[in-house]
Amino acid sequence: MRKYVIMGVQGSGKGTQSGLLAADLDLVHISVGDIFRWNVVNHTKLGAQVRRTMAKGELVSDDLAEGVVRDRLTQHDWNYGFIIDGFPRNQPQAEFFLESYDIDGVIHLELPDSEVRRRVLARRLCSGCGMDYNLIDSNPQLAGTCDSCGGDLVIREDDTEEALAVRLREYHQKTNPVLDIFRRKEYVVSVDARGSKDEVQQSIRKYLGLPDYHPADPAVG
Ligand code: AMP
Repeated sequence: MRKYVIMGVQGSGKGTQSGLLAADLDLVHISVGDIFRWNVVNHTKLGAQVRRTMAKGELVSDDLAEGVVRDRLTQHDWNYGFIIDGFPRNQPQAEFFLESYDIDGVIHLELPDSEVRRRVLARRLCSGCGMDYNLIDSNPQLAGTCDSCGGDLVIREDDTEEALAVRLREYHQKTNPVLDIFRRKEYVVSVDARGSKDEVQQSIRKYLGLPDYHPADPAVG
């Protein structure tokens, strides 16, 4: 059983790196942002509560974020463990989390703000299946169309200059203190997120003492 938290500023590759780790180690990948986005797209009550806050790049209330995490983890479908991405994002959420769950490590992806801006503004999301693209290094085969489901690629509502500025400010003010809490417990491994996705994944494995990463051969798929 392995339980990890992954942290990093937006665009640092949290979703991609968690996905790679989860697929290989049979972990359940829990992205709080993805759960909120699913609720927005599907017009649920929760979606209506968070939509505007998310679009501005602000954090939604701790009650709602904690509720999502609690509900997801009480499903107990994580026999081999989980990797949670996008939570905790501030001190109260960190306290809630540490009271309720023990964790094996916190992966901290480090990326300078200038690189964040370049990556986030190039990010596209499939409106059909939610797959992430980055026009810098993971272009779809047909511009504007998802390789996997043929859906339209769109810009996330909070991937604008204004919302990005708010999210970076929120991150530095509120999320850095969470890292300090975890650092005091010696949970944190910091990884330089500027490399390719394979290099970053390999560094994560090395720091956590996990088996090496063997990227799939793209020709084989
Ligand atoms: P993300 O995909 O992780 O960048 O999250 C997208 C948005 O969802 C954030 O900008 C927040 O509005 C909201 N969100 C995600 N996780 C949290 C959280 N732990 N606490 C509050 N808001 C969150």
